[in-house]
Amino acid sequence: MSDKMDINVIPDKKLTTKYVSSLSKIYWKDEESFKKTIAALNSYGVCPRCCLRFLAIDNQSIYRSSFQWMADFLKEREETMCSNICCACLGVLQEKYCREEFRKEIIKTLMEAKYEYDSFFVAITLPVSTMMREHSIWLKLAEQDKTAFNDYRRRDLASLKDCWKWVNGDDLGESLGRKSEYSTESACFEISLNFSHKTQFRECYPLDDYFEEFRKRKSDDIVYTRSSVQRALVKLSDDRFRKLYSSPPTIPKDECTVEIQFKQDSIFVAGRYNKYSRKLSQTPWVLDSGERRTNSSVQEMLCDSIKSHFKADSFVFTSSGREDVDVKMLGEGRPFIVELINPHVTTISKSELKDITKKINTQKDIGVRDLQLALRSDTMKLKEGEEQKKKSYSAFCWSKEPITQEELDSKLSNIKDLKVNQRTPIRVLHRRTNSYRTKMIYSLEAKSINEKHFILYLTTQAGTYIKEFVHSDFGRTTPSLGSILGVECDILELNVTAVDLDWPERLGDEEK
Ligand SMILES: [Zn+2]
Repeated sequence: MSDKMDINVIPDKKLTTKYVSSLSKIYWKDEESFKKTIAALNSYGVCPRCCLRFLAIDNQSIYRSSFQWMADFLKEREETMCSNICCACLGVLQEKYCREEFRKEIIKTLMEAKYEYDSFFVAITLPVSTMMREHSIWLKLAEQDKTAFNDYRRRDLASLKDCWKWVNGDDLGESLGRKSEYSTESACFEISLNFSHKTQFRECYPLDDYFEEFRKRKSDDIVYTRSSVQRALVKLSDDRFRKLYSSPPTIPKDECTVEIQFKQDSIFVAGRYNKYSRKLSQTPWVLDSGERRTNSSVQEMLCDSIKSHFKADSFVFTSSGREDVDVKMLGEGRPFIVELINPHVTTISKSELKDITKKINTQKDIGVRDLQLALRSDTMKLKEGEEQKKKSYSAFCWSKEPITQEELDSKLSNIKDLKVNQRTPIRVLHRRTNSYRTKMIYSLEAKSINEKHFILYLTTQAGTYIKEFVHSDFGRTTPSLGSILGVECDILELNVTAVDLDWPERLGDEEK
């Protein structure tokens, strides 16, 4: 902390060139070589802030007062300060994007978007051509002073992104009344400044001559990424680069444009749901033609109110397994988690959670309980040991011949941990490959309703095809209930009665 404080101290005396040179991480033979470098950078058309970057200075406060110092320095030498768009930063560190008006524009856009947040991180995307330009300037400097600008010093060059934050971050934070964080881990809210430039990709085209990967003509933004251009610049010899690209770089005609966006970390809400309809699918059922087969879906009925509370852009629904459209989800319900993408609201009270629960439960066919905030890592809990989980069902069955309670008991009561072999059911063959799997049925019990109808209660390994176990799917499942009872059986209705997962925490809120 104290280190950070020290480099932020604003010198109260006027900046002297001697003082500025003492901040540079570069080893200078003498003061004159330092001065010559500054004059050279100015003559290439590099702005004062970029000058400081190339001098490997990371004193944050000096970046704010750099213009005055530079003007004074050049005046002494009877030289004039370059007034063009900077050939290194393309304007990012110059007047337009570092003055109060620009910060006000960010604040105005942010206020209009109405986000809840405590601190923020500014994420900056730069035109990829700034890498070509930086490389070109570095080579030019190295040409003139090999000792000062050796490859080893390259890492000390201050980054354009950091410099923008040093100049603007604190002021922005002060105006917003929030802390400006320097690492993305420390803040859940991100202000993205996406700078782009007219010729950003065109300037990289010369790299195509040497690198195969650039010749695969996809769109430019996919081909010329920061990492691909970085790799190319490391591999390319200095002489070759000089042949491809002018050194120092040309003075740009236009400055960057910027797009301001905001992004909030996802929020997660978990719970358990019941489904009381045999006509409701878990996810929206949309045909290839775009036509909807069902009016709503479990996930929409559950998530719409949650999404609207958090004012999220969208949501991702995940549950511990799923049931077919015509299967009811009874008992304590099925655990689920909802990821709310880019929420504008980040808090929810217990009573608001209760209100949302009530609101969801006013809808026919659906019920929710145990609604609570969760973590991203909880998403794994739904998937962990998926195959080992137990599920319990009740199935309303029919037998071709009459069957008594005694017969049901005598044939089923001894069965424990029964292995069944199942081929992919015919009804799902159109969307799944034909494969073969073995699943466990842990317990079986039946209660006679009348001579040809009974209810089957069973607990099975997750992923067992229950309908097929009952009617055998033309012999594709063996053994089947029919083969065990010695009579043709079919399933009329199926309910899931329990999903064996001790998460999320049971809150004991009332049932619907
Ligand atoms: Zn610049």
